[in-house]
Amino acid sequence: MERFRMEIESLSKNEELARVVTAVFMSRLDPTLEEMDDVKTAVSEAVTNAVIHGYQEGEGIIYMELQAEERQLTVMVRDLGVGIADVKRAMEPMYTTDPSGERSGMGFSFMEAFMDQVQVESEPGRGTLVTMRKKIGR
Ligand code: ATP
Ligand code: MG
Repeated sequence: MERFRMEIESLSKNEELARVVTAVFMSRLDPTLEEMDDVKTAVSEAVTNAVIHGYQEGEGIIYMELQAEERQLTVMVRDLGVGIADVKRAMEPMYTTDPSGERSGMGFSFMEAFMDQVQVESEPGRGTLVTMRKKIGR
């Protein structure tokens, strides 16, 4: 198994960094362009959630881990922010706690659509771990 870990500051501009690093890492698995875009979108949604919801746009560190084993890609995005009380509800399409009306509540739905598997572990006050898996290549 190949593994890559990084810690990134919780800033919106670091979403791009997370996306690009993920793309380079997964390129070893010889993905199609579509697979590349799918994973980048899912990573983007998870990191955005950590920045906006987990750390509520304040300071914090986002822990990312990428794993590749044969054709299986695993992406983990962890924050030590506010956490989620009801994960099942949070993952429902169109569910959002955003009061501004800017968010559509589709982040988790996109992650589930673009990855084979999405697992969310969270506890209020302790943070959130999103683990996503996808089989890459033909
Ligand atoms: P969108 O992603 O469409 O902009 P959204 O972020 O509200 O909107 P989801 O990404 O599906 O929608 O997340 C649903 C809800 O789950 C969020 O509104 C938030 O309450 C909660 N949530 C998601 N990720 C986290 C996180 N890392 N920490 C705390 N709460 C989270
Ligand atoms: Mg979101």
